Amino acid sequence: MKKAKLNSVIRKLSAYFGKPFDRKTNSPGILEILIGTKLSQNTTDRSSFRAYTNLREKFPSWEDVCEADTEEIRECIKVCGLAKTKSENIKKMLSEMKSNYGTLDLSFLKEYDDDKIYDELLRYDGIGVKTISCVLMFAMRRDAFPVDTHVHRVLNRLGIVSTNSAEKTFEATKDIIPKGRKYELHTNLIKFGRNICRSKNPLCSICFLFRECEFSEKEIYRKSPGGRKTGNNNFIILENI
Ligand code: SF4
Repeated sequence: MKKAKLNSVIRKLSAYFGKPFDRKTNSPGILEILIGTKLSQNTTDRSSFRAYTNLREKFPSWEDVCEADTEEIRECIKVCGLAKTKSENIKKMLSEMKSNYGTLDLSFLKEYDDDKIYDELLRYDGIGVKTISCVLMFAMRRDAFPVDTHVHRVLNRLGIVSTNSAEKTFEATKDIIPKGRKYELHTNLIKFGRNICRSKNPLCSICFLFRECEFSEKEIYRKSPGGRKTGNNNFIILENI
């Protein structure tokens, strides 16, 4: 039942937002995704992408970032907010990896299976299951399913899962998403969650998933004049680095 509903949701989301770009080209590296994810915390993807671009322009390699002063890193990424914390975290993560592996070339992880990659990267502060799933999905093109706040909220409102944390949603969806559709579903749920099924003032009056939705307040929001459409918010940093 949940699977049938999920399949219908996948189809409707793809009809509305389209299929994502061809993932066989333009594959970023593991550190690119790890650092892009860190920069994207608590800010918009456009701001974090500007910070990421500044960092890459100033430092030709991650080794250079690792050896830079935290202050220099902070200056590059200040556009995305929380720059002090983020610069310290980036420096710490790179230093620990360099010390553990003797290199910042993490391509050896591609030889590992998914479980071993989760175990390996969970050792580092600030790297959780969602971030590692992003590495698997964007840097390795594996069939992983990162669950962020949008994915968690939307799947619960639709009644596909009934969970109280993103971690539990991740577990609950592991076996029900059709093979090969996780990337498409992940990116389209983020777009849907940002633009239509927003945390505050969801646009239930124009929602093409209204019939499937089990959100108890959907009728209230359907009649609410407060929910206005905002601009297109479809830029996803990890698709662009
Ligand atoms: S009807 Fe409203 S709450 Fe339900 S999925 Fe659509 S926007 Fe979200």
